[in-house]
Amino acid sequence: MAEYTQYVRDEHAICRGCPVVRSGVPLVRPMLEWKATRGDGRLEHWTRQDVRDYLLRYLPTANISRALLRDAPTCAKDLVYFLSDRGTLKGDDVGVLADATDEIFYGHARLATFVDRRPSSDPHERRRARRKAARSARKCNRRT
Ligand SMILES: [Zn+2]
Repeated sequence: MAEYTQYVRDEHAICRGCPVVRSGVPLVRPMLEWKATRGDGRLEHWTRQDVRDYLLRYLPTANISRALLRDAPTCAKDLVYFLSDRGTLKGDDVGVLADATDEIFYGHARLATFVDRRPSSDPHERRRARRKAARSARKCNRRT
């Protein structure tokens, strides 16, 4: 958790209006607690079903604000990328998990009053693409 808090500070400080800065810590803490107590206790093991259970079944029954609820899919998505970048993510593939959170995010968006956000306006996507490019570049360098 301390490592995650530090990561949010380092990686998201530069994002403007970032949901992860606003809601990452208050959402990821109960997410890990939920996994520890209600799930199988494996904090780094996430499946598509875990993500859906947490976001769609557990969170709406938790006593949290609408603003936090709205940020939840984005923060869950960021958490799986965080675990994946550290090399500790187990369970479903990071892309599968990210898609699961997107489905929920855009499901909410369709339902009503949620803010209108297009994928292209997400600063994280651009940074992720850059990190991915840097990673493959490193991989290439190792081979030569
Ligand atoms: Zn951010």
